[in-house]
Amino acid sequence: MSDRSVVTRFAPSPTGRLHLGHAASAIRAHDFARARGGRFVVRIEDIDGTRSRPEFVDGIFEDLAWLGLRWDSLMVQSARLATYDAALEGLKARALVYPCFCTRAEIAASASAPQGAVGPAYPGICRGLSAAAIAARTGPCCWRLDMAKALTEVGAGVEALTWHDSTAGTVVADPLAQGDVVLARKDAPASYHLAVTLDDAAQGVTDVVRGVDLFAATHVHRVLQALLGLPVPAYHHHPLVVDSAGRRLAKRDGARALAEMRAAGEDGAALAARVRAGGG
Ligand code: GLU
Repeated sequence: MSDRSVVTRFAPSPTGRLHLGHAASAIRAHDFARARGGRFVVRIEDIDGTRSRPEFVDGIFEDLAWLGLRWDSLMVQSARLATYDAALEGLKARALVYPCFCTRAEIAASASAPQGAVGPAYPGICRGLSAAAIAARTGPCCWRLDMAKALTEVGAGVEALTWHDSTAGTVVADPLAQGDVVLARKDAPASYHLAVTLDDAAQGVTDVVRGVDLFAATHVHRVLQALLGLPVPAYHHHPLVVDSAGRRLAKRDGARALAEMRAAGEDGAALAARVRAGGG
């Protein structure tokens, strides 16, 4: 089977060292493309300037090379801030985003906050602020997507927004459940949602291979694709690697870093072969 147009990506955030879960995801994305004669690209998701560190970026390249994975091109989000900003300005001009001055504590304290898939959905406190009220505020703000308005704008009736998921089949997007998500953070000119949507399109990604923990985010990405006129990739949300207690691997729970295995003289190609065979 050969489909040269297939493009997959591995998009780690350099906020820590990669572990076996990252390796498994990278191998899946890589192999999906290579099996079809397609391309595998890497993206460093470093818009979080406070948590991203250059040594973790270096570590990502070393880990991938150690696993025997070669990538065809590289994108670095911190070099694309002007692109995210331009998209945000476009959404501002269409009045689809609004500034939000709420603190995390204020949002958490709001009794009306319904539970979204990735924490409480924003209860809409700043949605109706008048221009005068906005002008009177001086503190930092983030920018939120007015989700209901966005859906009206794309003329969808939610029914029309779907994506193909290799595990879930045809999924009807339900972005309202995610609430008015942040598109530009107080401390960064973009958010994960905005950057990832623009970048998957810019890198020509046809198939997004990533963990099932990001399934809910796809509802949001689907709306952004419709608003920004971007192509819709197919999605492959894979199960997460879990530890012996059944918990997903996480650095804070002491998941062993690939760098540590490398330093201990383990063979990366052999590890990759074990991952492909379904073990770790
Ligand atoms: N950067 C994200 C992470 O490391 C992954 C983004 C994605 O695959 O969409 O969790």
